[in-house]
Amino acid sequence: MAVSNSQNFNRILHVDGDSFFASCEIALNPKLQGRAVWVGGGRRGDGIVIAANRAAKKFGVTTGMACFEAARLCPRGVLCPPHYHEYRELSDRMFRVLEQYSPTLVPTSIDEGFLDFTTMDRNVWRHTTAANYVKEICERIWREVKIPVSAGLANSSRLAKLATDAAKPGFLEISPGAEKEFLKDRSVRELSGLGKNRQRSLAALGAVTFGHVARLPSILLKQKFGIWGQQLWLFANGRWSEPLLLQVKDRTTISSNTTLPYDEPDYPAALTFTLSEATRLTGQLRREQLQLRELALAVRFNDFSEVSGGHRFAHPQFQNSIVNGVLENLFHEIMGAQARPVRQIRIAFWNLTRLDTQPTLWGRTNAERWGALDEATHHLNEQWGKPTVMTGAQLSLQHLDGIHKNPKAKCPFVPQREMVKKLWGTNADPLAHKGDSEKRLAKVSKQIQFNH
Ligand SMILES: [Mg+2]
Repeated sequence: MAVSNSQNFNRILHVDGDSFFASCEIALNPKLQGRAVWVGGGRRGDGIVIAANRAAKKFGVTTGMACFEAARLCPRGVLCPPHYHEYRELSDRMFRVLEQYSPTLVPTSIDEGFLDFTTMDRNVWRHTTAANYVKEICERIWREVKIPVSAGLANSSRLAKLATDAAKPGFLEISPGAEKEFLKDRSVRELSGLGKNRQRSLAALGAVTFGHVARLPSILLKQKFGIWGQQLWLFANGRWSEPLLLQVKDRTTISSNTTLPYDEPDYPAALTFTLSEATRLTGQLRREQLQLRELALAVRFNDFSEVSGGHRFAHPQFQNSIVNGVLENLFHEIMGAQARPVRQIRIAFWNLTRLDTQPTLWGRTNAERWGALDEATHHLNEQWGKPTVMTGAQLSLQHLDGIHKNPKAKCPFVPQREMVKKLWGTNADPLAHKGDSEKRLAKVSKQIQFNH
């Protein structure tokens, strides 16, 4: 395996917010400090626990548990409804602190990311230690954003993530040379992305921990699992190291799932809401320069029964008017024979492809004009902090009795593409600022990354 020596000097920091949503609720309402807190869905506290803080976990409250069950286990705990918009803001503030500590920051979710610390020991850390430096970062995030974070430092992002998990709450550094020892008794299950099948095949070879893997002949792992097996063997032996790469994955689907604030008996109102949500989704897609080929609509009633339908376009679509036209027909089709009040509406777009916004010989393309329009609308709305420019569907939604107004984004995550744009101000090649040799190195290591 051609892993050059220089790569063994990679130092990657993984940072992860502790029980992020629950911590956000405490940051938003300091009175909750010191109490058992969990965030739960549902309209009347009848949903499931989305996140629970450490104090609540002590009582046995876990993510995915029914909220009433959590209340039974911990009667003095506090159930908070989710505030995704505020979580996003706190996440932004956390990443804004983090980006000041490394030129390369790769956010992977709303509360997690990696920082490249590879050359820190040669300059920044001459008068301090990694532990002190990271402690300072964590303390600053706590001071300024009021979110507790944990961190792990190691020679690859995978190992750094394992270090964070082991450190929670706190910080753990796996110093160069100590990797194998750290991994020895840990289950291979801890490796993110390890599927059940591979887990079973490894167990059949007697490999349950990384220590077991390290003792197997590397050739056996190579025969059994190909390049992945070889990489796993290097990892278990503490010899896997990789530079931090900014990989922007394309979105494969976009969807929205909204439980209405009350059971809606008025179908035209439900349709208006559907079209407004679809408008938001197509706008988001265009900002990410994508278009859709297929869509689905599902409507759930107050008795939890459901009707659904889908449509496949002959060509990829990006225009709101076309998508909404199809959705409207679909809505009438599936709702025609129904009479029960609507509880929940789900819209999904998938089979996404790149939206070509190259200027044509005869002027700008339609796609580009729509994109520019979206961009301008988005900016105006952000600038004013409320929908200032609206489509017909959104406008008629405003005229409804106000309760469906301004539906907030359901997905709390900042898509990576958006995050990249925010941090670097561009979608461009994240390696563009690096030298040719670094680019080549990055390319090589991309080829030898774990594939699963
Ligand atoms: Mg977290």
